[in-house]
Amino acid sequence: MTADTEGTAGATRQALRSMLAEEQARVLARVAKLEVDIDALTSARRSESDDDEHDPEGVTLSSQWSMLGGLLESAREDARQAESALHRLAEGTYGVCASCGNAIPAEQLEVRPFRERCVPCASKLERG
Ligand SMILES: [Zn+2]
Repeated sequence: MTADTEGTAGATRQALRSMLAEEQARVLARVAKLEVDIDALTSARRSESDDDEHDPEGVTLSSQWSMLGGLLESAREDARQAESALHRLAEGTYGVCASCGNAIPAEQLEVRPFRERCVPCASKLERG
């Protein structure tokens, strides 16, 4: 009885774990790639003259730079959430909203497997 229930839950958890681990690997690969891109851009910038103001190429590099920086920031945030989701899964609190403590609906988790809060709480948080 108990063993059966635990067996099913264990299997589900295992499936979730590998799904989350896969997602995490994907996110970390994105972080690594962006870091490489930014590094390349940094060297490109360094090899330019310091006189970027009069250099149209310098402006392009700057805007590329800030775009990549933004992407890297959000990728790092995703990586943080992925790690936290795996941690919560190990603790048995995965899928529970960090704010209201209610179960996060499965369809919301399907859209964003790493989500820490249910949609209402997340949007409340975003609005500040
Ligand atoms: Zn909530």
